[in-house]
Amino acid sequence: MIVTCPKCSAKNRVDESAAAVSQPVCGRCGAMLKTDAWSGADGSGVSTPLVITDASFTRDVMQAGARPVLLDCWAEWCGPCRMIGPIIDQLAAESAGRYITAKLNVDENPRTAAQLGIQSIPALLIFKNGELVDRMIGAQPKQAIVARLAAHS
Ligand SMILES: [Zn+2]
Repeated sequence: MIVTCPKCSAKNRVDESAAAVSQPVCGRCGAMLKTDAWSGADGSGVSTPLVITDASFTRDVMQAGARPVLLDCWAEWCGPCRMIGPIIDQLAAESAGRYITAKLNVDENPRTAAQLGIQSIPALLIFKNGELVDRMIGAQPKQAIVARLAAHS
């Protein structure tokens, strides 16, 4: 299949079976390419955070199974959220299938935000086996998030 690079717009030929097991990168600039094979529905090879909505929360977070799901609850207007965003992206790239990262825009998905009792953001929640097992409120250094994730892995 042909995948257009999100960074430099180069067209890359990607082998689908290879893309299922390793992250394909752009031949010109080295940026990570997004392919359907890579963003598997089970989250096994997802290298960018899943975007969670009211419609997908149950399936993608509650039914994700034994692998911990780190859910970043954020909003456009929230300054500290913009500091956490890139950390979540890094954690996604480094996950190697050990955990799943996800983002929930609380303004666009008020039903899930209310269900989770989100009153201040950024809020980082960790789910495992369909249960909320940890909750961090406010901006966190990356190492703190890594430690909490590791505790639930
Ligand atoms: Zn490129």
